Amino acid sequence: MAKIFTLAGDQPAAAATAATAVMALETKLAKASRTLVERRDPEKNYHKLERSALPALAPGFDWELFFAQLPLPATEKTVLVGQPEFFQALGGLLTSEPLADWRTYLRWHLLRQTASYLGRAFVDERFAFYSRKLSGTTEQRPRWKRVMAATDSAIGEDLGQLYVKTTFSPSAKAKALEMVKFHLEAMRGRIRAATWMSEPTKAVAYKKIDTMRTKVGYPDRWRDYTGLEVSRRAYVLNVLAGSAFETRRQLAKLGRPVDRNEWLMTPQTNNAYYEPTLNEMCFPAGILQPPFFDEKADDATNYGALASTIGHELTHGFDDQGRQYDWEGNLKPWWSDEDVKRFEARAELVAKQYDAYEPLPGLHLNGHQTLGENIADVGGLRVSYEAFKLATKGKKLEPVDGFTPDQRFFLAFAQGWRTNDRPEQLRLAVTSNLHSPARWRVLGPVANFPEFRAAFGCSEPVANATPIW
Ligand SMILES: [Zn+2]
Repeated sequence: MAKIFTLAGDQPAAAATAATAVMALETKLAKASRTLVERRDPEKNYHKLERSALPALAPGFDWELFFAQLPLPATEKTVLVGQPEFFQALGGLLTSEPLADWRTYLRWHLLRQTASYLGRAFVDERFAFYSRKLSGTTEQRPRWKRVMAATDSAIGEDLGQLYVKTTFSPSAKAKALEMVKFHLEAMRGRIRAATWMSEPTKAVAYKKIDTMRTKVGYPDRWRDYTGLEVSRRAYVLNVLAGSAFETRRQLAKLGRPVDRNEWLMTPQTNNAYYEPTLNEMCFPAGILQPPFFDEKADDATNYGALASTIGHELTHGFDDQGRQYDWEGNLKPWWSDEDVKRFEARAELVAKQYDAYEPLPGLHLNGHQTLGENIADVGGLRVSYEAFKLATKGKKLEPVDGFTPDQRFFLAFAQGWRTNDRPEQLRLAVTSNLHSPARWRVLGPVANFPEFRAAFGCSEPVANATPIW
């Protein structure tokens, strides 16, 4: 921080004082914040308030002035406050801490957020801390890749139109949709087979599967970036214009019907999502590429490789968070109390299994912090395996290169996760990421899988013989 302040023009002594002030404020704010585990409970983080109630919660902040600066429809008078006690603490700090410190704090955040888009000295200094120090990264990505990432973030759907033209064919889309269909059928089968779940709860679960939407490849209608000004001025100004444009676009949604055609990821993203508030899955063209998906590959490879994607995202609809949303995406209970208890008992076993993993000496995974992702990883492998069996029912599958179809399914699953983490990155991820590190995203699910043990002749008992899905 002190180095960045110096680059911004502060004398070294003033920069050091500024850094100390920011650190002190950040520490106080962090102490008033919930942990990652606490933030995973959707009900406990949902507090709908009238805007007029905010001054009582955090009196030190001029809320009306704040809202007056935003292009909000006059009809919007309610807010969701995730952590009321944080705002209480913030209100206190705004009064107790010197105004000069708050100014320094805001200056710091402006510099922190823009450093990557300023001159070389800022870029290098930001990299030195956030990447080299915190993650152990030894080298910056080439500049064109960093600029490409900024373009993706600002005008991702314009970029996406160029991307899908060369990378995603209608036949690839048809094949992916067929795989999704078998996955949905497999998930229905897992619900049917869940002996611990009552029939009335199952009936709603089927409805949730039947009404789940799937987006594959790229949007039907592309986003319109009219009004976003990009020109040959300073790079950082274009980045800031992109960010302001996006904020206005988000705020303009208020008071309007939900746009169910919107994509929350760009087509070129090598990732996927399940969105519980929309009950939808999305698989961008960027992840429907080798090694995750190859139109020309056989089913054992495609189903194994997409276990971490289609199986995983689908299972999110039924993990410890996703299961709390109904088929329309409302946070509304639809489980019987008994079923909730039995679900939670099983979820505890998943947490216990992952708590035991120790990526670095003395550093264990936090099974509750990563619970939703672990449930989706474990359940996802199961659902994809069953989908593979449904898709290949009645077909005679031959070994390839000396590996049986089941072996190749699991190999493809593991190969999708070929990743090396430096110790610094592992430490950072274990304390701050809701996902387990890649190695345990493979080891955890297969440790629970009798068919994996049979395929590779493992004699050890399964880690958790009481799965959720
Ligand atoms: Zn996930």
